[in-house]
Amino acid sequence: MAHSGNADWLARSQAAVWHPCTQMRHHARSGSPEHLPLVPIARGSGAWLYDFDGKRYLDGISSWWTNLFGHANPRINSALTEQLETLEHVMLAGFTHQPVVELSERLSALTGGALGHAFYASDGASATEIALKMSCHYWRNVGRPEKDRFLCLAGSYHGETVGALAVTDMAIFRDAYAPLVRGATVVPSPDFRLGEPGETPGDVARRAAVALEQHLEAHGEATAALIVEPLIQGAAGMAMHDPEYLRLARALCDRFEVHLICDEIAVGCGRTGTFFAHEQADIRPDLMCLSKGISGGYLPLSVVLCSDTLYAAFLDDSVARAFLHSHSYTGNPLACRAALATLDIFDSDGVIAVNREKAAKIAAALAPLAANPQVRHLRQRGMIAAFDVPTDDPWFARKFYRAALAREALIRPIGNTVYLMPPYIVTDTEIALLGTAIQGALDEALSA
Ligand SMILES: *Cc1c(COP(=O)(O)O)cnc(C)c1O
Repeated sequence: MAHSGNADWLARSQAAVWHPCTQMRHHARSGSPEHLPLVPIARGSGAWLYDFDGKRYLDGISSWWTNLFGHANPRINSALTEQLETLEHVMLAGFTHQPVVELSERLSALTGGALGHAFYASDGASATEIALKMSCHYWRNVGRPEKDRFLCLAGSYHGETVGALAVTDMAIFRDAYAPLVRGATVVPSPDFRLGEPGETPGDVARRAAVALEQHLEAHGEATAALIVEPLIQGAAGMAMHDPEYLRLARALCDRFEVHLICDEIAVGCGRTGTFFAHEQADIRPDLMCLSKGISGGYLPLSVVLCSDTLYAAFLDDSVARAFLHSHSYTGNPLACRAALATLDIFDSDGVIAVNREKAAKIAAALAPLAANPQVRHLRQRGMIAAFDVPTDDPWFARKFYRAALAREALIRPIGNTVYLMPPYIVTDTEIALLGTAIQGALDEALSA
């Protein structure tokens, strides 16, 4: 086929592809405030994406929080090539294979053995649904079927399939489908930005935990699980909270016999400075969801890890007491191999320690923003940095996004929150470029 440029792919994509999370009309509104440019990508290398016309973009948000070690990573590529030649796929019901066994063992070891079994799916929303179903089914199996309600935090995001929407507190994603959804109870978020004058993040966490306690005192008997995004509620706009909340929530879940589900889909795999975010609170959940970064950003893979106690309640002669859930590509060998190669890089490169230095450099690159009167709540935990921009312009995020692209940076704000979540291989020069792009894009977006 002849070489085609951006314009060609753009037109064909708009004609044939229904893009996710997008008002498709906005792609065609060139020159208007709402215009959402569609960027055709020809190839990727390291932290960079290249279009068909020779332009490049630094992937400041890890392609929707998935990519950890760069695009076309040679080590993950070679592991996948080898796996491709060996076994591309086999059903996991009644069959097993080396990558899925090794990955399950290694993930369990990463939890110190606390979560001893791994159940697989292909995306984050499915992992959420699996965790909810496992929790509810556990209570049924142990003779307490009345425990079937779920709790989530204000501003929570756990995916957009109908079951996951039940615990996703986002009107924009949920309202149109309200008749389909059996909503969970929303309890206050420990988001530190909600602090009253004089309150510390720890104070906000304790206040939110008191509300959780009050709810559980009244409704604990009917509650199956609390689901949280530990330390950072990503889609809410990188809302960060003190680990104290997780400690208190863990204790309350124990006291009221409620499962604690940690959704580490975005914050797991080293993002917040520890391999799992919940480690910073010195707790373990009963169930944990992983996806996004677990395959290095290569292949759709999600995992639900569960405690041995939970697992044991499904062992019985009766088939109906088993967890009868499945997806066609459950435990796909290629995806598991990508995850193993990703974990290998963590081990061989001392990634958690190296990221501490990179996080400090990101902090330094963004530090000048603290003096900008248009910047509020400059915050960071590990490899996620964010700030809020107090503007009433409904198209601020779009304007900023376009202005950043013009500066070779892929940075896509959530509402009025600008954030960085770069791949871990980002270099000092690239961090500096992201810092400069943010300053420039902020000025341009606010003046346009
Ligand atoms: C992205 C995300 C999900 C959903 O994952 P998908 O693969 O997009 O379905 C769930 N929870 C959190 C915290 C996420 O960031």
